[in-house]
Formats: sequence, structure tokens, C-alpha cells
Amino acid sequence: IPIIADIHFDYRLALMALEAGVDGLRLNPGNISEPKRVRAIAQAAKERNVPIRIGVNAGSLPKTANPKLTIAQRMVDAALEQIRLLESLDFDLIKVSLKAFDVPTTIEAYQSIAEKIPYPLHIGITEAGTPRTGIIRSVAGISTLLYMGIGDTIRVSLTAHPREEVIAGYEILKSLNLRQHGPILASCPSCGRAEVDIVKLAETVEEQLIKINKPIKVAVMGCVVNGPG
Ligand code: SF4
Repeated sequence: IPIIADIHFDYRLALMALEAGVDGLRLNPGNISEPKRVRAIAQAAKERNVPIRIGVNAGSLPKTANPKLTIAQRMVDAALEQIRLLESLDFDLIKVSLKAFDVPTTIEAYQSIAEKIPYPLHIGITEAGTPRTGIIRSVAGISTLLYMGIGDTIRVSLTAHPREEVIAGYEILKSLNLRQHGPILASCPSCGRAEVDIVKLAETVEEQLIKINKPIKVAVMGCVVNGPG
């Protein structure tokens, strides 16, 4: 698994991470933006052919951002400024992310930057919350962008074990037919015709399916009415 070092505040940590052999860097232009420091990182990354993700977060925008602009515009501006700096150093192993908690803000920012730059976009909704609501916010943002053809890699950010983020991420990709990964479970919502405890049965089957890697489809139905056909 590639190791990506997510660096904030101290540019020397980025240099140390590169020295240690990381496969990728994330820099936050909200807290590492001084040209001299970014140049030092870019130079070291270029020597090692290591890509840099310019990871803008709505919660930590540069203090110099124009307050008259929308948050989405400020996010785009922060990314473009650092992109220009890296390009001036002939560094083009660039990825970009523009994450916010607010879904429409995130979508606006990604739509805007997708029209302006040729670099891959890492998409996600940041600080999305606990699985109950965070998965829904993430699906709303990530799926909308992917359906518009925007986004090259995804991250689901949940206040939960990272395993839950990976499961949710795969489910998003599977739902859009973008990736096959393990089984797909269909289960009915249950009704008065159910002949079994469908909730319990579906949960038991889901638990068992985690152990299977094959891309099979499994249906758990309460009666014969809406069988898989
Ligand atoms: S499959 Fe049967 S039990 Fe399930 S919702 Fe449909 S009619 Fe009800």
C-alpha cells in the first residue's frame, strides 16, 4: 500500500517524509504556503519523482484569501496559487483536493477547478461526521461529482474506524458501476408479507459476505413477490 504523508504547518516534516521514502505528499496551502518552503519541498519531491497533492480544506484557508469571494472561490484560488508555484519550478506531479463539510460548496469548488487545470482531482467531503450521517453526506458529494465526470480518487471521511471509510468508498463506486469489489447485497425493505425476520436475516448475511471477495449478487427477500427474477 503506498504511503502518503499528510503534512501541515512544518515544511521540514515534508522533507523528512521524502527522505524516509514516502510515495506521495499532501500539503495544505492554508498552513504551508511560503514560496521558499514550498520550493524546497518541490525540489526534493522532484528528485524522487514523488507526487504532491495540494490539499485545500475550507476550514484552514490561507489568511490572505479574499473575504469578498465565496468559500468555494477562495478554495480554488488557494489551490491555483500553489499550482502556479509548483509549475514555475517545472513540477507537474500534482494532484488537487478541495474539501469542505458543506456539500454544495465542495461541488462548486471542484466544478470550478476542473475547468481550469489538467491535474487529477482527489474528491471527498471533509469532516463528514459519524457513519449514520457522514456516509450520506459523502455519497451526496462524491457521487454527484463522479456522475459529472469529476474526480480521479476518492476519500470518505468518517468519525469511525478507517475500515468503515474504505467499505463506504467501495459501496459508492459499486453503486455507480465504476468498480467491482466483493459481493453486492440486495435486501427488501420488509412489509406485512414478510415470512421471516428480514432485518435480522439481512444483517446476518451482510456480516457473512464481508468474508467473500467474489463480485456476486445476493438477494435477501421476505417473500416471493420481489424475488431477484
Ligand atoms: S419482497 Fe415481500 S416481504 Fe419484502 S417488501 Fe416485497 S412484498 Fe414485502
